[in-house]
Amino acid sequence: MNAVVTAEFSVPGAGELLEVAPGVLWLRMPLPFDLDHINLYILDDIDGWVVVDCGLGNSDTRAVWEKVIASLLDGKPVKKVILTHAHIDHIGAAGWLCQRAEAPLWITAGEQVTAHEYFQVSGDDSDHFAATAKSFLHRLGMNNKQSEGIMGIFTGISTLIHPLPEDTCELQENSVINIGNLEWQVIISEGHSEAHACLYSEALGVLISGDQVLPRISSNVSVRPGKPEANPLLTWLDSLARLKALPADTLVLPAHERPFYGLRARLTGLLDEHHDTLLQVEQACSEPLTVMQLAGLIYKRKLSLFDLLLAGGECLANLNYLLAEKRVQSHLNDAGVLVFSQRP
Ligand SMILES: [Zn+2]
Repeated sequence: MNAVVTAEFSVPGAGELLEVAPGVLWLRMPLPFDLDHINLYILDDIDGWVVVDCGLGNSDTRAVWEKVIASLLDGKPVKKVILTHAHIDHIGAAGWLCQRAEAPLWITAGEQVTAHEYFQVSGDDSDHFAATAKSFLHRLGMNNKQSEGIMGIFTGISTLIHPLPEDTCELQENSVINIGNLEWQVIISEGHSEAHACLYSEALGVLISGDQVLPRISSNVSVRPGKPEANPLLTWLDSLARLKALPADTLVLPAHERPFYGLRARLTGLLDEHHDTLLQVEQACSEPLTVMQLAGLIYKRKLSLFDLLLAGGECLANLNYLLAEKRVQSHLNDAGVLVFSQRP
């Protein structure tokens, strides 16, 4: 299959379940963002259900879950909650659902670490978190007003996650989870988040891809405040290339937008897009510039504060990749802001 083809399912309405493969149900949850929904999947485990991703920790999400639990799960319990990764739209309601259903949480070790960072924003480590984040934003070239606004966003995000269970079960690369009569293989990828888990059923020919492969939009790959020197784009590109080993006719169930076929075509498209952007960034560095100046050149539109954070993190991911390849160089200017330029 040489093109991305949307699977011919109607989109389930709010609080409805749609079977997209035997024993695999699709549930949409609302999100109060530009991207206004997340897809969750519920897997039939014969005497109960396994939930993959949970939605935000807010009242809208909890209301949908209450409806689903009360009327759509045939009176069978949720036995397990699996998270692809710890971004807020996936993990927010997880702690609540685990408690509500008395179900264990399954998550990779890397995502567990990320999850706990949400609680640093307003917890005992809040001063340390604020200092690290502000210094990071300053180095990107943000002014104080932008930086203060983004700190407010961090605080807002941290209110959308329920406390997690103290004990969790660890998802590991290549481990196999038996659900119903099916085996689901865990495939861990890095770059979009610390250790993102996809689930693959060879028997069904289905990949639950989380945010690792989306049909149209490209997942954000950002350098984060706590790891300013990281090179997430390198591991991201490797992760995308590895998924090409899956069969060409795999049905991909993404966390956003619609299920699709054409996994390899989508992966090739994503890899090409990233390499094009890297070239564009390298060329932009013919004039010395800060990360924020680069974001202005690359995104060419007015960015909200949240988009500015994503754009800054993503531009730095491109620059750190080019730094590692010795295609650009960087220094801190007198104001303590990073400046990138092409190597002489
Ligand atoms: Zn994500």
